[in-house]
Amino acid sequence: MIHLEYMERQTSTQTVPMVCMHCDNPTCAAVCPADAIKRTPDGVVQSALKERCIGCSNCVMACPFGVPRYYPEIDQMLKCDMCYDRTAYGLRPMCATVCPSEALFYGTLEEFEKRRGGTPVNQFQFGNQIITTKVFMVLPTGEMQLDMDVSAHMTDPTFHNDAFDHINPFDGLETYQTGAD
Ligand code: SF4
Ligand code: SF4
Repeated sequence: MIHLEYMERQTSTQTVPMVCMHCDNPTCAAVCPADAIKRTPDGVVQSALKERCIGCSNCVMACPFGVPRYYPEIDQMLKCDMCYDRTAYGLRPMCATVCPSEALFYGTLEEFEKRRGGTPVNQFQFGNQIITTKVFMVLPTGEMQLDMDVSAHMTDPTFHNDAFDHINPFDGLETYQTGAD
């Protein structure tokens, strides 16, 4: 499950999907006290195991890319798992199948280079920490680095609005109802 953030809610309806980067050494899993986040042998970091997650939100605060989201309706974290029920069988993740501009692309590097320009990068630096990921981000051709002041966005009032905030994604789903009658 992925969620969408608004880019600049006050001036634009543009959204950005919060796709998990599938870190080689995932911080979300390292800080989970319940061992609820597993990484598959092929490098896909799964969403929280329902039976284990205690809804503490450690992963939400620790992920350098801001991916996991805590859902109080079910007292659990959910995040993108690269549609593992599809990709494990050779199908593309749903986001990539519906993206009309291939802003989200799923395939090999060779396939990417035949269809797209830009420089794919999968190494990111946060302070002194270097993180490598299974998912690549595409920079303009020739550029190997993109500098962002992440902490500046934490106080940006236009940035925190979640595009799904007005929707309860669990409305009507009896299987997710956790409260007593
Ligand atoms: S991007 Fe965040 S949620 Fe995804 S594997 Fe890395 S630390 Fe975990
Ligand atoms: S919210 Fe769940 S998955 Fe995330 S750190 Fe806490 S127990 Fe682990």
